[in-house]
Amino acid sequence: MSFRVKLFFIFLMYGLLLAIAAQILMMKINKEVVRQDSLKKAALYAEEIQKDFQQNLKASQRKLKAIRESKIFQKNFQENRIRKCSELLFLDIAKTSSDIMQLRYIDKNGNEVIRVERNNPRQEAYIIDRKYLQNKAQRYYFKELMQLRDGEYWYSKLDLNVEHGKIEEPLKPVIRIGTPYYYKGERKGILIINVFVNDFLHSLVESDIYNVFLIDKDNYMLVNTQHKNEWSRYLDKENGKNLESLLDVKSENSYILNLKITNNEGLKIILVPKENYIAAEVKENFYQFLWVVLIVLILSLPLSYFMSILPAKLKSKVDALNKELENEAKDKDILLSLFDLSDAVLFKWNNDEKWSVSFVSKSVENLLEYSQNDFASNKVAYINCIHSSDIARVEQEVQAAIKVEAYFFTHEPYRIVTKNKKIKWILDNTVIVRDENGEIINFVGYLTDVTELKEKEFELENLARIDQLTKINNRLYLDEILMKQYYRFNRHSEECSIILVDIDYFKTVNDEYGHLVGDKVLVEFAALLQKSIRKDDIVGRWGGEEFLIILPHTYLDKAAFLAEKLCKIIAEHEFNVIGHKTASFGVATFVHGMSVEQCVDMADDALYEAKEGGRNMVKVAKQA
Ligand code: GH3
Ligand code: MG
Ligand code: MG
Repeated sequence: MSFRVKLFFIFLMYGLLLAIAAQILMMKINKEVVRQDSLKKAALYAEEIQKDFQQNLKASQRKLKAIRESKIFQKNFQENRIRKCSELLFLDIAKTSSDIMQLRYIDKNGNEVIRVERNNPRQEAYIIDRKYLQNKAQRYYFKELMQLRDGEYWYSKLDLNVEHGKIEEPLKPVIRIGTPYYYKGERKGILIINVFVNDFLHSLVESDIYNVFLIDKDNYMLVNTQHKNEWSRYLDKENGKNLESLLDVKSENSYILNLKITNNEGLKIILVPKENYIAAEVKENFYQFLWVVLIVLILSLPLSYFMSILPAKLKSKVDALNKELENEAKDKDILLSLFDLSDAVLFKWNNDEKWSVSFVSKSVENLLEYSQNDFASNKVAYINCIHSSDIARVEQEVQAAIKVEAYFFTHEPYRIVTKNKKIKWILDNTVIVRDENGEIINFVGYLTDVTELKEKEFELENLARIDQLTKINNRLYLDEILMKQYYRFNRHSEECSIILVDIDYFKTVNDEYGHLVGDKVLVEFAALLQKSIRKDDIVGRWGGEEFLIILPHTYLDKAAFLAEKLCKIIAEHEFNVIGHKTASFGVATFVHGMSVEQCVDMADDALYEAKEGGRNMVKVAKQA
């Protein structure tokens, strides 16, 4: 997949995810709004429940009131027939409502006088035979009711019906409503009605919107929508008291109303909006959600298309650059590995006094015997590796290159001292790296070991200037020195004299002893001359058995004196094999206006004179 397509999809996905996330957030908020809304409505709903409850109690009250005010009942059972009528009245009233469990009249001594009953809600009510009537003087409701004034009502707790001292199963939640019965200002007894409230209570808690919980003042569960843990107080369900775990309700998600019911039992009603109700409310928004996502998708398509153009272009540029850099790095690597393999060393010096090293190729270990790290850690400074005799010159060369703003220069080969104190000759080609303002950033040098070449050069130099037989300077070198001295003489008037020496009758040596002996005599003769002159004097073989001595800073008289001395030394010397041998000397000095050749000719003339004069003598050129 091309980068651009990828980018397109990334933008698209990003847009979609954003839309979905926003919508999910919206739905969450929506859900909260629905919940809060339903909590607000819960107040009204709870009021309804309270009202229903109160009306239910009022209905029973009205029934008691009807009996109390009934003319028949007020006849106070004067005769059996009246009592019979009252019983029928009770039965009729009990029939008006199928949730009446008992309707009784108990006299002031606690004796039940009339009792109408039904076993279960919606069953037929019937009158209890007189012989089954009991005394209820000890019951709390009797005692409490007997305290009340005329027209007052009493309500029992909301609890379960007990039969023979045991909670009756199936559970029969009951509430009792009673009122004292007064006749002509005299309390005669009590009227009491027991009401089955199971159906009623459950009708109260039935709701599509809320989970409804009816609890008592100690937080025991009485009734709830799900019928879980109902009547926990009476059924010894201790955990029925732990409302939070029981209801999975947090106070911020619920509405609580203290029921104002006249028995002051402290009943509470709790309303918790049902999750599925909230979900159903929110569900309507789901289609809106889909629409938004779809619109975002449609809008994202062209946007993603255009957004992907620029980065794709940039990417291709960056890729190209990267490739270039990679190739460069590869080239650099190849170059460096070339250095590592070769004896050449690549140095990058900082522009400081010590020539500290910012990079050096691995091959430095062969050249200088120090490791790359020795330089990298500044343990070794390059300038300390340069031979002390060459430092000044090398630095001078650098300064000269800097001065002329060269960007590349080559040092005259110089010497370096390796870690193991070996001396090597280095050819150092250096590039001066500058910034855009021409300031020097660093120096990059390419160093090669030219020790061998240098030695060969010395050898060649030697060969070029040394006479191979006598091992003293040859004619070539003598010519060179003559030219130098001549220059100095002309330029600085530096005196210089020369002595031309020729062995006398040398031919006879060859003739008598052979060439080899002749050669040896020449070697011995040269050595004798060499050791007999000063250090600054230069002696060389001029040709055959002729030698030239150049005497810098020397006047003619001093030269003549030396020639005499040499003449004597030679004459007195005992040569191997041949014994004594003499030589003739011609002395001359440089004269202004004369060439070197003319000066040498003058010495030659003097020599000729010496030969003519009988040999073994010194003749000085006659000079103007
Ligand atoms: P003079 O006293 O007049 O100089 O006499 P001479 O014999 O020394 O002079 P001449 O020039 O007649 O002879 C020079 C001789 O030196 C001739 C040559 O054979 C000999 N000679 C020149 N070079 C060498 C050399 O390299 N080895 C040997 N063995 N002999 C050489
Ligand atoms: Mg000669
Ligand atoms: Mg000779």
